[in-house]
Amino acid sequence: MIHVDDVTYFTRGYCFALALELHARAGFPLRVFHSDNDHHHHALVKLPDGQFLDVRGIQNRDAIKRHWGPGILRAVGPDFFKDWSENVEVSLGKLGKKRLNRVANKLLQRLVTLKCTECPAIKVVSREPCFYDFTEVTTICPRCEKDPKKKARHDRLLVPSRGTTRKAKHDRRAQNKK
Ligand SMILES: [Zn+2]
Repeated sequence: MIHVDDVTYFTRGYCFALALELHARAGFPLRVFHSDNDHHHHALVKLPDGQFLDVRGIQNRDAIKRHWGPGILRAVGPDFFKDWSENVEVSLGKLGKKRLNRVANKLLQRLVTLKCTECPAIKVVSREPCFYDFTEVTTICPRCEKDPKKKARHDRLLVPSRGTTRKAKHDRRAQNKK
């Protein structure tokens, strides 16, 4: 049994355990990346904005292919991984539940969804340590920002009224809904 860091543990071994945990906790659908070059498979989850999440953080499709080389991403169910632990246990030992919890917590706690005020676009980002503890933030997406009408409407949300801003109220309402 070898000792490895979290990234190696959850990319070259227990990637499927982390994906299953994220799927169970947050409902994110499971994906598996099949590399063309070797027979390596990597498990991860798909985020609501179309990006993907694994121990390395949020990545889009291009970033995954840059890292793993050419291959395809496929939707799978939890059963797809049922035989995977047998091979992994040989080199990494039984799955470390504490380690799994710690890494899953860290990843999920950092997710922030940016929502456009002018269209249904969303983008999931990883919270920087200095960010406030919001899980949802209203903003304007790059596409709407190019439209002067939408930009102006969005900016009016930021105009202060009686000591508070409509944007702040909007954010608070969004936060309270959680
Ligand atoms: Zn937008």
